[in-house]
Amino acid sequence: MNQPKYYLLTPGPITTTYTVKEAMLTDWGSWDDDFNQVTQSIRSGLLKVANAETSHVCVPLQGSGTFAVEATLGTLLGPNDKLLVLMNGAYGQRIAKICDYLKRPYSIIDTGDYLPPDPEAVRKALQDDPAITTVALVHCETSSGILNPVEAVAGVVKEMGRKLIIDSMSAFGALPVNAEELPFDALISSANKCFEGVPGFGFSLIRRDLLENCKGNAHSLSMDLYDQWAYMEKTGQWRYTPPTHTVAAFAQAMREHAAEGGTQGRLARYTRNRDQLVAGMRKLGFKTLLEDIWLSPIIVTFISPDDPAFEFKRFYAELKKRGFVIYPGKLTQMDSFRIGCIGQIDTPEVSRLLSAIQEVLSVMQVNLSIMEETLS
Ligand SMILES: *Cc1c(COP(=O)(O)O)cnc(C)c1O
Repeated sequence: MNQPKYYLLTPGPITTTYTVKEAMLTDWGSWDDDFNQVTQSIRSGLLKVANAETSHVCVPLQGSGTFAVEATLGTLLGPNDKLLVLMNGAYGQRIAKICDYLKRPYSIIDTGDYLPPDPEAVRKALQDDPAITTVALVHCETSSGILNPVEAVAGVVKEMGRKLIIDSMSAFGALPVNAEELPFDALISSANKCFEGVPGFGFSLIRRDLLENCKGNAHSLSMDLYDQWAYMEKTGQWRYTPPTHTVAAFAQAMREHAAEGGTQGRLARYTRNRDQLVAGMRKLGFKTLLEDIWLSPIIVTFISPDDPAFEFKRFYAELKKRGFVIYPGKLTQMDSFRIGCIGQIDTPEVSRLLSAIQEVLSVMQVNLSIMEETLS
């Protein structure tokens, strides 16, 4: 019963523990004090993880992570704001697309599919355009798996006196975030990534004195994080029906996160998973898209072998039969696929995954030594 049907090696939803799933067996009243306490505990717990209890507030929002990104942009960007989007993949592109919908002015620095943003280029863009008030950056760009240089960018943004919004969806909980050292105005994540909860809500950690001045900015009633926050402060309740079971599961997930040693403990396990995965895949003949210094412990992109016998759909299906669900690639330039390091997986599961991959390659009659020769 505790064994999942298959392991989700994807960047959310991820494989959760049995105890997290079990926490969903109670029906909660959304107005009830017991449930309000659960909500309050996760809000203060998340601030604590980011060492942001005195500076920021935590505003959860129903929906997937993108809802929280859109709500944060809509709430924080006022009529006189302009955003600079640092883009190197699908999630940076999504931020720009949200601004199109919201009709908020923005400019971009696009470094393509998998190159990191250059902090000095950010400095120059901010020098050249005084209209830019705010910068948006993706912490771990899940589409390639690159770990972007958030600390360096945050330093520049602060020096230049601008605001910073970080999409840390796939990083927060596993990569250290310390509000006293990493200056950010908002940081967004969701329930079903590194905290290993189930999907259903996202949340934004927003600098309190900034949010206090954001009344009336939002383009949408249900996405107004100022209103969500003000109502929650006043009543302890969510505006509108909360995902009660997801919230209860998340409280359990946060207890398990703490029991594992918090962010550090989780990072250690994910890093172990990544190192074992990358070493094992390289031994089989696969290449990673990124150089080692940019590889995140969240998700890794592998270049598809150029042997015509390799077909991703079949590879995926054969691995699924063996209990592992992987993720298609998201690059515009070349064929690739991704394997996640997050969720309830550890050394034994990665070992079994690697054996399954080896077996599937042989079933598909893919010869990776061909790729080895053509690439080197
Ligand atoms: C998962 C993710 C999101 C949000 O995705 P949803 O599908 O809306 O939950 C946003 N940004 C990044 C970097 C992500 O990894």
